[in-house]
Parts: sequence; C-alpha cells; structure tokens
Amino acid sequence: MRSPGPRATFARLARRARLGLRVPALDRCRADTVVTFDCNLCGARNAVAFAQLARETPSCAACASTVRFRSIGHLVARELFGADLALPDLPRRPEVRGLGLSDADAYAKPLADRLGYENTFFHQSPQLDITAIDEARAGRYDFVVASDVFEHVLAPVSRAFVNARRLLKPGGAFILTVPFGTEGPTREHFPELHDWRIEGEGDARVLVNRTADGREQRYADLCFHGGDGSTLEMRLFSRDDLLRELREAGFAHARIAGEACLPFGIVWPEPWSVPIVARAPA
Ligand SMILES: [Zn+2]
Repeated sequence: MRSPGPRATFARLARRARLGLRVPALDRCRADTVVTFDCNLCGARNAVAFAQLARETPSCAACASTVRFRSIGHLVARELFGADLALPDLPRRPEVRGLGLSDADAYAKPLADRLGYENTFFHQSPQLDITAIDEARAGRYDFVVASDVFEHVLAPVSRAFVNARRLLKPGGAFILTVPFGTEGPTREHFPELHDWRIEGEGDARVLVNRTADGREQRYADLCFHGGDGSTLEMRLFSRDDLLRELREAGFAHARIAGEACLPFGIVWPEPWSVPIVARAPA
C-alpha cells in the first residue's frame, strides 16, 4: 500500500527510544522476568512478569489490553504504515478506511480516533453479518479486523473468508485471529447444523439440532466465549485449513504473524492461535 517514507524513519527512532527501556532479550526471559513495555494502544508504561504476557490475560494496567489486542494494533500500524507505531502516534488519516467485527474497545477506540475506522456488530447497530455482507460495503476498506470471530460464525465458514476479502480494496489487509491448532484438519463441532436451538441455562445448556434429513441431535459440553449465547464456539481451526481458506477465498498472500514486539509487550511463545495477516490481490 503506502511506502514507509520519512514517517518510518521517525518510527524507527521512536522504536529505538523505546528499546532503551531495558527490554530483556526475549530468549533470556523466564516466567518471572519483569518486562517493561509501553502499551501501543493507550500509551501507558507497564512492568509485568513475562508470564503475564499471554494471549488472553489483561496485562496493561491502564486499558486492560491483552497480547492479542496489542498485536492487532501493532499489525494495523505495520501493514498500513510500515512501522512499529503505537496507535496514539499514528498520523490522523480519516481517508484510510478500516472495518472491525465486534472489536474490543481497547484498540477500536484508538483506531477510530486516528483513522476512518468503524466497528460493527452482529446483534446491534452498526450491524454487519460477515456471512452476508451489504454490497454497499464491498471494496471499500484498506483493512478489516476479525479477532476471535470466525470460530463462531455459522457454517459454511468459507463465506466469511470470501466476504472479508470482498470488503477490501485491492491490496487491502485482513488481520485475523482465531484459536487454532497446528495439527490435523479443522474440527467442526456441529457439522450437520440445520434447524437448531440452545436449551437450558449455564453449564446445563445443550444444543438441539434437527438435521436436513430429519434426525435429532443433542450436544452437551458446549463452549461459549464471552458468556453470551451468541458466542458459541462452532469449530476449532487448524493452521493449514486457515491458510487454505484464505487462499481459496482469493487472498493473494497470507502469513502467520506471530512476531514479537517486546517494547509493546507483544510476545507469542507458542505457535498456535497467533495472528494471521492476509492481503487482497493488488
Ligand atoms: Zn494500555
């Protein structure tokens, strides 16, 4: 998209200044090593044990951001501006258009403050269903973020990947996170969903399905994310299937984006469930 230019030089200097924060070498960090980082979403300086830098553990004392949230902000800045910029340091560019799917406020608010970014929701306005997008939105975005959403969408999930690509302008960036394993195929938890409902409350909830050919199925041990019935986990992806889905949806390039940026408190010690970045064809 844009060449880095002078802004990247500035960013390199800013990053070097941050690196002056006595950041320990990654390979020497133990669970109790204290890591100092500047949150790239809110700007707060934090000192936490290395073990607290985990995908779903809040580790910024000011905005409660997790490694996943900070990684998304970092990847938006990297993909669009080619630099390790904190979101409050992004240039104000309302013509750079982005779209989020139920994004967390921790990064959605600073993105909306600097860029032409809009967060959308499945159940409320501004509404967007990634399996059936409004054609008026097609081809309008420089970036799309889908963080821990695609494991919840109704099958066939391929529609969601195709629509993510269709929302993008040529060369636009898709920043995706989902829980994924590194072995085997994707596991669809309910492969024959047709006419279905959730019954019961809390841990006793069951999914009752009538298949297209009339058989009744009942599933217990359901996995809900975020506590709401709308966030039932439908599948556990595998890495190879994710990359295949992106390729078949027409993305030109996809990469596993598990790079660390310790000055921003971003580290991915394990190979699973890390972010993925894909590009629409230029
Ligand atoms: Zn923060």
